[in-house]
Amino acid sequence: MAAQQKNGTIVVAEHPLIAAKLSILRAKTTGPDEFRRNMQEVSILLLEEAARSWETAPLEVETPLGKSAGQILRRPVVIVPILRAGLGMLEGIARVVPEANVGHIGLYRDEKTLRPVTYYCRLPVNLAQAQIVLVDPMLATGFSASQAVALLKAKSATRIQFLCLVACPPGIEQLRSAHPDVPIVTAAIDPELNEFGYIVPGLGDAGDRYFGTD
Ligand code: URA
Repeated sequence: MAAQQKNGTIVVAEHPLIAAKLSILRAKTTGPDEFRRNMQEVSILLLEEAARSWETAPLEVETPLGKSAGQILRRPVVIVPILRAGLGMLEGIARVVPEANVGHIGLYRDEKTLRPVTYYCRLPVNLAQAQIVLVDPMLATGFSASQAVALLKAKSATRIQFLCLVACPPGIEQLRSAHPDVPIVTAAIDPELNEFGYIVPGLGDAGDRYFGTD
């Protein structure tokens, strides 16, 4: 897969499979079963793009017929979904990195300040050594992503990548200005946010569609 568009720390993973699956996710006629499967599959394809930068160490393996030069991931992987919609991405990614530790960050939006408030944060202890994949399908205002990164950094995390399905310019701006060291990997950048903080055209409420609560 080629990252065909790179703007600093933003990678839009352009790939026919991602484009086709994202279109299924966008369609309002797509039901929860198809939505779930496609979100998991796109997440795996996005992880493939993100993992290009991961370091490996050499390893010699014995095949049934001889010795072969192999590789092993140099760092433990930690996947951190932002609740609730990030759980859909986790389900896909954990299938290809089943050895990963998983942290959870829960944030809700304060109705007065419109800023995220942390209601749950449970993280593995190995963040300082780990390659961390923070996942949330929609990078909308960017405040939740920024807060989640701050929580991770407060626990000594340094290698953090943010994966989403759809980003938009205000969210990208917010996350990049708060955490310029965190690369963003997305399947698409949509033009705008509406007054309710939803990405337009986007795909609607990712959590509701994934869990069938819409
Ligand atoms: N969260 C969603 O689920 N969808 C959006 O468009 C924005 C935030």
